[in-house]
Amino acid sequence: MKSQALIFLGAPGAGKGTQAREVSKEFGIPQISTGDILREAVKKGTPLGLAAKVKMEAGQLVPDEIVCGVVEERIGEPDCMSGFILDGFPRTIPQAQFVDRALENKGRGKPLVINIAVEQDVLLKRLTGRRTCSACGEIYNIYFNPPKAEAVCDKDGAKLLQRADDNEETIRQRLVAYDSQTRPLIDYYRQKNLLHDVEGNRDPEPIARDLIRFLKSA
Ligand code: AMP
Repeated sequence: MKSQALIFLGAPGAGKGTQAREVSKEFGIPQISTGDILREAVKKGTPLGLAAKVKMEAGQLVPDEIVCGVVEERIGEPDCMSGFILDGFPRTIPQAQFVDRALENKGRGKPLVINIAVEQDVLLKRLTGRRTCSACGEIYNIYFNPPKAEAVCDKDGAKLLQRADDNEETIRQRLVAYDSQTRPLIDYYRQKNLLHDVEGNRDPEPIARDLIRFLKSA
């Protein structure tokens, strides 16, 4: 894998987080999820969390300046020296332009962008059925990938939680935000010849296998 920066693009529920986790393990590079960073800040009640909370609960995007600041700081940390995965960032054209500048300034070349394409009805089931382990972050789905015991993680027995924004109304808003603000990034990166499409209407395992094979050859 030549490129140092991987970007995972896709609608909410496309499987960005699940796939980024596998790729992170395989290549030993950190997964940077802006959603996870923001949720953690909301939980702790930090100034960042307070600024992001209302937008997140409404299913809207957090302002570019705030999210770009978070990413700028995170990618400057030592564990990002030999590469990183951006999961859920960029989500707007200004954010993508910010990444371009940041990579150029650091002399890190162009990103490789993975676009995970999933049909709308599958997205809805993935989002409404999603449950996350409160301890290790493992992701389950009550329809497609249920835990062995109800609401409990197979790996560590911790409680599974549903994300606050995985309710029907907020999901609808998040999909609207995706269509209007994030979908244009597909063309943005395709025109630059940086985009690799992945068929996302499948189980996570075959997707991860294909993706890792592709990245090893890229
Ligand atoms: P995610 O976990 O990626 O689905 O993100 C959850 C929520 O965090 C989104 O609905 C947004 O409110 C916010 N968020 C995450 N990443 C970004 C981003 N790159 N730009 C703006 N808002 C974001």
